[in-house]
Amino acid sequence: MNKKLRKAVIAGNWKMNKTPAEAKELIEGIKPLVKDADCGVVVCVPYIDLAVALEATKGTNIGVGAENCHWEKSGAFTGEISADMLSAIGVQYVIIGHSERRTYFGETDITVNKRVRAALDNGLTVILCVGEYLEQREQGITAELVAMQTKIALGGVSEDELKKIILAYEPVWAIGTGKTAPSAQENEVCAVIRSTVKELYNAAAADAMTVQYGGSMNAKNANELLDQPDVDGGLIGGASLKPADFAEIVKAANR
Ligand code: PEP
Repeated sequence: MNKKLRKAVIAGNWKMNKTPAEAKELIEGIKPLVKDADCGVVVCVPYIDLAVALEATKGTNIGVGAENCHWEKSGAFTGEISADMLSAIGVQYVIIGHSERRTYFGETDITVNKRVRAALDNGLTVILCVGEYLEQREQGITAELVAMQTKIALGGVSEDELKKIILAYEPVWAIGTGKTAPSAQENEVCAVIRSTVKELYNAAAADAMTVQYGGSMNAKNANELLDQPDVDGGLIGGASLKPADFAEIVKAANR
């Protein structure tokens, strides 16, 4: 596996944080700190902040993403936003299958797959999250589980469309907890995800796939995590809300 074949991407997941005014301020803080980055830099923000984020990142190297999308174009889905709506305003990325959506909002592998399909049909790049709960890790079924999540989510996705997919391995027990497994173990699961892509498609597709790690990545542990051969970037929650910390992680990806 050659890491140089793949582009590292550091993406912030702001979750349910920041008003539009605060979003502008945060992006203005991040902009100068990441302007020379070679890796991809993305901020995934609440729907209400998308317009401000798109405006504030114009002409910069920062991409803008949403945190979810619905699979239907339009209709009676109160409270939802479609992939069509996101692409209509110029959004480039969307997180799909985040464990907080699966845990708190009942999203399943099947609906994750539908959302992926809609996002791809609208030209969005998908940050597709998979990962196990602690109970599943303790049961020793992490590899099987993430392979299955990956397979279902990628159902009906062509090899060509994989260019618009970033896979994010996010162990649920590591998200927002400050806990991480030893980085070699995180790498092992990222490698399982990569070999699942190989099984579904081929070796070239697997080699080219960006596989991020997410779960309490911060300015202190980013170097070690990003040094792992199968970790090609990070999906960052808490630390993405602090410009200096987010920029340190971007710097770690650029070494
Ligand atoms: C996330 O929300 O995807 C995440 C990884 O959060 P945190 O970095 O705060 O663990």
